[in-house]
Amino acid sequence: MRPPLVPLGTLIGRELRNEKLEKPFLKYGQAALAKKGEDYFLIKPDCLRVPGNPSTSFSVFAIFDGHNGISAAIFAKENLLDNVLSAIPQESSREEWLQALPRALVAGFVKTDIEFQQKGETSGTTVTFVVIDDWTITVASVGDSRCILDTQGGVVSLLTVDHRLEENVEERERVTASGGEVGRLNVGPLRCWPGGLCLSRSIGDTDVGEFIVPIPHVKQVKISNAGGRLIIASDGIWDALSSDMAAKSCRGLPAELAAKLVVKEALRSRGLKDDTTCLVVDIIPCDQPVLPPTPRKKQNMLRSLLFGKKSQNFMNKSTNKLSAVGVVEELFEEGSAMLAERLGKDFPSNTNSGLFRCAVCQVDQAPADGLSVNSGPFFSPASKPWEGPFLCANCRKKKDAMEGKRAGIPTVIS
Ligand SMILES: [Zn+2]
Repeated sequence: MRPPLVPLGTLIGRELRNEKLEKPFLKYGQAALAKKGEDYFLIKPDCLRVPGNPSTSFSVFAIFDGHNGISAAIFAKENLLDNVLSAIPQESSREEWLQALPRALVAGFVKTDIEFQQKGETSGTTVTFVVIDDWTITVASVGDSRCILDTQGGVVSLLTVDHRLEENVEERERVTASGGEVGRLNVGPLRCWPGGLCLSRSIGDTDVGEFIVPIPHVKQVKISNAGGRLIIASDGIWDALSSDMAAKSCRGLPAELAAKLVVKEALRSRGLKDDTTCLVVDIIPCDQPVLPPTPRKKQNMLRSLLFGKKSQNFMNKSTNKLSAVGVVEELFEEGSAMLAERLGKDFPSNTNSGLFRCAVCQVDQAPADGLSVNSGPFFSPASKPWEGPFLCANCRKKKDAMEGKRAGIPTVIS
């Protein structure tokens, strides 16, 4: 039996009236087939916002699809979560924590990239990093490992953006504007030069160029307590299957089996051309042992018979705007590659003992050593009040490099 679908408006109403929503269960499965052995993944259930308090638990799922070696993928897998968490102010309430998360993800991705660069190794990696806290899902991604959401209304939506030069005009323009060249070899997809990478964002790729930035697209949504399924996978899956095909191929099956089936389906249609990794995460109402199957065609017909016009309306709207169907609430989405835009202006710059805390790497520095994120090269703390978050000298250098500004050449920055 399917649980009744509770409209989001009702849910929000309940929350406002302080009726506590019960925590969902998470069930998950993973499957992979290696061709080059450069795919890595992270499954970390039961992380705690407040140490020792199990009611503050959240879970992390991530995929790292490495290229030109494995060291960036391994480094990101081992360090990214800590770097993200260290950018969230201590003693935040649950709401504050969730609100700070998109910004902390940006800081964590950039910090991880800077630290990897300092190791002086080549290689790079895509990252798709998913944080699930009760019914709120936050996804940060660079590269082309997609995350899709299949909700109980049968609506499939993409929570990531593909940072592929071939398909993303905006990214092509950004790369060109910050000093890279975009072109094609005789055959194959668009690549950037120097380097020849098809992606426009990644962690690592020190040898390619700073225009390949680690600043993630971030999307935060809240699903209804009917639950939903996430499918997170490397491009080995998405080059073979559309989002709809992947979701449909495994509906009604438990997560572990679903992940295996998606990999099998991709293999069947395209063969093993690339590393192929798939994580399936079911967010299940706590009174349900498994995610109830999404209604099949027969039931859909029955529904339209029962509800007539209303159901028709539902189906039309469901193709695009998720929030319109009352299944998913979109809380946050931002994909800009400009660090200043992503860190915001109201970032708390800690001033205890006259030191400022870097918004990216969290190091404390005297104001004279670093600069406000929005200030120009000749900025003097004495002449102008602080504007925006503080960046230490190191992170400021990284910001300029990503925007294509070379050190030593004085330019006027707006
Ligand atoms: Zn810093």
